[in-house]
Amino acid sequence: MPVAEPHSPGAASGFPLPAIPAHARVVVVGAGQAGLSVAHHLAHRGLAPGQDLVVLDRSPAAGGAWQFRWESLRLGTAHRVNDLPGMRELGLSFETADQGRAARDVVGEYYAEYERHFGLAVFRPVAVTSVREAARASDARAAPLRVDYRRGAGDGATRGTVIADLLVNATGTWGAPIRPYITGIETFRGRQLSTPEYRSAAEFGGRRVVVVGGGTSAVGFVLELEGIAASVTWVTRRPVSFAGEEPGEASASMEGRLAAVAQQNDAAREGRVLPSIISGTGLPATARNLDAARRGVLVARPLFTGIEPGGVRFADGSFEPADAIIWATGFRSELGHLDPLGLREPGGGVAATQGRAERDPRVFLAGYGPQASTIGANRAGRLVALQVLEVLAALS
Ligand code: FAD
Repeated sequence: MPVAEPHSPGAASGFPLPAIPAHARVVVVGAGQAGLSVAHHLAHRGLAPGQDLVVLDRSPAAGGAWQFRWESLRLGTAHRVNDLPGMRELGLSFETADQGRAARDVVGEYYAEYERHFGLAVFRPVAVTSVREAARASDARAAPLRVDYRRGAGDGATRGTVIADLLVNATGTWGAPIRPYITGIETFRGRQLSTPEYRSAAEFGGRRVVVVGGGTSAVGFVLELEGIAASVTWVTRRPVSFAGEEPGEASASMEGRLAAVAQQNDAAREGRVLPSIISGTGLPATARNLDAARRGVLVARPLFTGIEPGGVRFADGSFEPADAIIWATGFRSELGHLDPLGLREPGGGVAATQGRAERDPRVFLAGYGPQASTIGANRAGRLVALQVLEVLAALS
C-alpha cells in the first residue's frame, strides 16, 4: 500500500509515526463515540484498520470531545455515557466506572483501551481540512474522494492526502459552539466564553456571572458557581421545566424525548439546523436540580434583549450588571471540511437519511442530529457501518 508520508515529523526524533495510507476503502473522520463505533463495526466485519479503514482524529489523545470537558464534570452528573459496542469484552463499562473521577479522564482511558484492544489504529492528531472529488481512474466504477489532512501542529505539521471510496464523517459538534447575536454584544467589557472554554468555577470567584442556555451544561455551571461567584443570573430563551429523567433511570418523559428525536430526524432529513433535544424532554428532575430550583438558584429569567458594556438589559427595562457571560447555547455540527462537496441545503444543514448524505452517496454522517448522544452514536455506528459494507460490496 503506498504511503503519503514517508518522512513523518516524529522520524527526526527517533520515534517514527506510523504512516497514513495514501489509499483506503473508507476514511472515518473523528474518533469520538460515533467514529469509534463505526470503526469497530467495520473492523469486526473484515476491514483492516490502518489499511482499508483509516481513522483520522484531530484531538491529541483518545476521548473525543470528552477529553476537553471541565474537570468537575463527572460520569454521575453527565446524562449517561453508554458503553461502546463490544466494550464489555475488555471488562470495562461506564456503568461500573468510578463515578467520582472526572468524566474526561475515565472516558479518555476507556476509549484508549478500546482502541488498543480492537487495534483500531487511530491516526492523531490529524485534522481533515477538506474532502473533495478525486480524479477518477479510467477503470474505476465510482469516483473516489480526496481527503486532505494536516498532521501534527505548529512548525512540525505535515500535510497529506488519502484517496478513499467512502467517507464517514463523525466530527461531532464540540468545535462549533453557537453564540447568538444580541444587540450590543460587541460592547461588553467583561469576559464572554462558550461552553468549550469553561474550565472551573474558581475562575469566576467574586464575579457577577450571567449564564445563558437551557441545557444541562448551563444548569451545571449555575450550580457550580453558586457560592463562588458574587452573583449568578440564569437566562434561557424558552421557559424551562424539570421533567426529564434522573441519570441512568428509565425515561419519565419518553413522549417528549420521542417527539424531540422525531423533530431532529426531520431536520436532519431536510438539511435544516437541528433543534435541541432538551427543549422536548425537559431538564433532569434530579434531587439536586429540584432543590436548587426551590431555593431560587435554578430559576431562569427570559433571555435579555440587549448587552451593554457593564451588563445585560432585559425586555422589561431592568439591568443586571455582569463581569462575565457564559454562553451555553448549543453547538452546530462541524462540517466545514465537507464544503467542497456542496452538500449543504439552503437551510445550512446537510440532508441525511439513516446517516447517509442525500447529495452524495459516498458520504455518511455518524453522530449527526438525533444521533448526537453516546447511545445515538452507538446506533449510528452499526447503521452506517452496514450501509458502508453494502456499498463497498457493490463497488468491488
Ligand atoms: P465527539 O466526541 O465530539 O468526537 C468527535 C471527534 O472528531 C473529536 O475527537 C474531534 O477532535 C474530531 N474531529 C472534529 N473535526 C475533525 C476534523 N476536521 N478532522 C479530524 N478530526 C476531527 N452524551 C451522552 O450520551 N451522555 C452525556 O452525559 C453527555 N454529556 C455531554 C456533556 C456536554 C457538555 C456536551 C457538550 C455533550 C454531551 N453529550 C453527552 C453529547 C456528546 O457530545 C455525545 O454523547 C458524544 O460524546 C459525541 O460523540 P461524537 O463521536 O459524535 O463526537
